[in-house]
Amino acid sequence: MPELSIVLLSSLQSLLQGWGFPKYRAKQVLDWRNKGVLDPQAMLNVPQEIRAALVAHFGEPPLRLVQRQCASDGTRKYLFALREGGTIETVMIPERKRITVCLSSQLGCILDCPFCYTGRQNFEKNLTGAAIVAQLWMVKADVMVDPLINSTATTPTHLVYMGMGEPLANESGLHQSLAFFLDETGMHLSRRRITVSTSGLLPQITRLGEMFPVNLAISLHSAKNDLRNTLVPINKKYPLTKLRKILDSYPLAEQRYITLEYVMLAGINDQPEDLLALVGYVRKLRERINLIHFNPYPNSGYTATPIKMMDAFASDLVSQGVRATVRRSRGDDIMAACGQLNAHAMRQ
Ligand code: SF4
Repeated sequence: MPELSIVLLSSLQSLLQGWGFPKYRAKQVLDWRNKGVLDPQAMLNVPQEIRAALVAHFGEPPLRLVQRQCASDGTRKYLFALREGGTIETVMIPERKRITVCLSSQLGCILDCPFCYTGRQNFEKNLTGAAIVAQLWMVKADVMVDPLINSTATTPTHLVYMGMGEPLANESGLHQSLAFFLDETGMHLSRRRITVSTSGLLPQITRLGEMFPVNLAISLHSAKNDLRNTLVPINKKYPLTKLRKILDSYPLAEQRYITLEYVMLAGINDQPEDLLALVGYVRKLRERINLIHFNPYPNSGYTATPIKMMDAFASDLVSQGVRATVRRSRGDDIMAACGQLNAHAMRQ
């Protein structure tokens, strides 16, 4: 039996009926859950004996909100405590017509990309599928009680697995959560609205494409093998040539592209030879480059490429037929931007 955060209607109906309760109560419970209420004791129109039975069966909700921070651009960062101990961060990014939730998949990260703040936090554990899904429920609830003024969207519309952790190093939690997000009896989100970002774990990318062909983003950061060995150490195991073969066979939805993420580090990967290598590596018809402004964190040891230089780098790519955009930082005044998540830091 899955947890309440990912249980489907038919399973909950059978469970309640097995306990001797009418099956229509299952819909009431899931209506609460769909409003982001995961604690059965707070489901006020559900009889007390059902609430007690649910608590006894499912236990405490997988997450509890510890802290919420709001950035000047409307981005919100949440610190959640996991039921089994430890804390994670989740980010909600509002735009004019959409709300994106950036999900964490691990507590810390098993990989060690030197420019990334999460990588500085020791890996502690994988999140369960229920804990991944619960992040979305909690953000939905928050947006419901405190609506956004700078977006016409009233609930999260897009999901990105770009928070703490390498999602493909937690295949079980990733697959469980994707199954629920995509299933027509779960959340029934379109696969075009979900993006999994990975540093490049090749067998797992292949399995993802076979089982859940959602949008794919790769933390590329360099198209030069030696430099990528440093910036994305998993490259030593899965180098660029092998990554290329896997990307070429990843199934894409119509008019969709694989995103190659490229955080720009001054003097490191923003030189003419880096551009040349990138142009040589990218598949112009299937891939696009997302240039990311480096978001500094204490003692990172790297500095950001100036915005003007990033724009020039992007223009040079575009002039050579490559789809390229510059991603502006969101939520950097609350350390909620890319590569800045570190649940230990938020508590201090
Ligand atoms: S960039 Fe991603 S894979 Fe690398 S350390 Fe950070 S969270 Fe982990």
